[in-house]
Amino acid sequence: MKKAAALKAANAGRVYELTLGYECNCNCLFCSIADKKQRRAKTTAGAMADISSARAEGFRIIGFGGGEPTIRKDIIKLAAFARAAGFGTIRVQTNGIMLSYPAFAKKLVDAGAGYFKFSIHGHTAEVHDRLTLVKGSFDRALAGLRNVRALGARTGVDIVINRLNYRFLPQYVETFALREGVSGVSFIYPIYEGAMLARAGTLGVKMTEALPYVKEALALARGILLDRHIVFNMPYCLFEQRDHALIPGARLKLKVNSPGQIEENFFLNSKASKLRPPACKACSKLGDCGGIWKNYAALYGTGEAAGCGKKKPSRRSPAEP
Ligand code: SF4
Repeated sequence: MKKAAALKAANAGRVYELTLGYECNCNCLFCSIADKKQRRAKTTAGAMADISSARAEGFRIIGFGGGEPTIRKDIIKLAAFARAAGFGTIRVQTNGIMLSYPAFAKKLVDAGAGYFKFSIHGHTAEVHDRLTLVKGSFDRALAGLRNVRALGARTGVDIVINRLNYRFLPQYVETFALREGVSGVSFIYPIYEGAMLARAGTLGVKMTEALPYVKEALALARGILLDRHIVFNMPYCLFEQRDHALIPGARLKLKVNSPGQIEENFFLNSKASKLRPPACKACSKLGDCGGIWKNYAALYGTGEAAGCGKKKPSRRSPAEP
């Protein structure tokens, strides 16, 4: 009984990520879910049941993701249902194309969606459209971002780092944080899966090659006091200690419910996909980091792992699988 109450209390601070399906109106060159696109999307009734269960489990923050959730005919109904169920924050992950229609953007915000994370993969139309394979997608995303901001919603942008955009990460922060007023930027180093793995030769960039640009972008974000900037899937040992707080690692508190799969702890499940070379085994951040992705190591090796000081001795077996 006590355990159930504690779990419920813990869930109040976690995000319930509901992947509604995998259909999308973009064709990103690096898409990591291309192999899942044949999976059946959640039905409206199924998604509503998930939303109700999530509230019963104590979650207060829900994220709708995909694929592209805004192309679903029931997205406004689902946002309204989540709000009625008591979710305090309803976040939508989106490429922004549908939000360029002002009436649709208003309906979704009025229904309860208050935070939009835009997947925009370059600071210009030239870069973004080349990656999404949809001409005009950058201009539509920008129009969508401006629409929901004007309606009072919070906004953030996510960029998947690759060979076509990594040199422009500082300009990306300038464009979206300084000029467009987003309150958060997520720098996502790709996990080499799906189309990203297939195109690693043309789209991949070694972490240490991208690193100077990531650091410059982070310094800029820090300088302009951006509310929130985060680095995903890059190890702590590449960064100075002051930036370690920007890498969520094991602190990422997501429960991910996707068609056909529920992951209670998103990060822990990634441990089996990582390698731990000698530098990792002695690293004080091993528990938060988990090591180097196996697919990455197959492409670029494990030589970039440099360790972060000494691991504290543990009474439990320190053996890492
Ligand atoms: S040494 Fe290994 S465990 Fe430590 S931060 Fe680097 S990659 Fe992660």
